[in-house]
Amino acid sequence: MTVEDLSVPAHWRRRLTYYRLVAGRCKKCGRLHYPPAPACPYCGSKDLELIEINNKGKLETYTIIYSAPGKSRGRAPIIVGVVNIEGLRIVSELTDIEPEELKTGIDVEPVLRRMDEDTNKGIIRYAIKFRPVLVPKSEERG
Ligand SMILES: [Zn+2]
Repeated sequence: MTVEDLSVPAHWRRRLTYYRLVAGRCKKCGRLHYPPAPACPYCGSKDLELIEINNKGKLETYTIIYSAPGKSRGRAPIIVGVVNIEGLRIVSELTDIEPEELKTGIDVEPVLRRMDEDTNKGIIRYAIKFRPVLVPKSEERG
């Protein structure tokens, strides 16, 4: 099942993991995994908790998609990166950065951004993306 198939109530129930960067932490072995799974991928334990990740991460690598299919066509170029955050490697879209500003090793932070809109269901979908950490927190735009 994809996000597109979700009804409004199902979408609402899952909002925690859509709107914040939430990882699973195993209470048995202590390791993190992302996205949260029903069992620990390392030891199989089902004694898990969800934790919100607000720290910054490092951009390990990236690619730029200039030719995007379907609904994403108008959004190209789309920048997708591998971010190392809290020891997790997360593949995510990058935002607030131009292709020529990209560099591996820069600090990035998770941010909630509008993804697209399902006008039939009246749902505006948001997703976690990563943006470069460049501006002091006090000067941040709302
Ligand atoms: Zn475990």
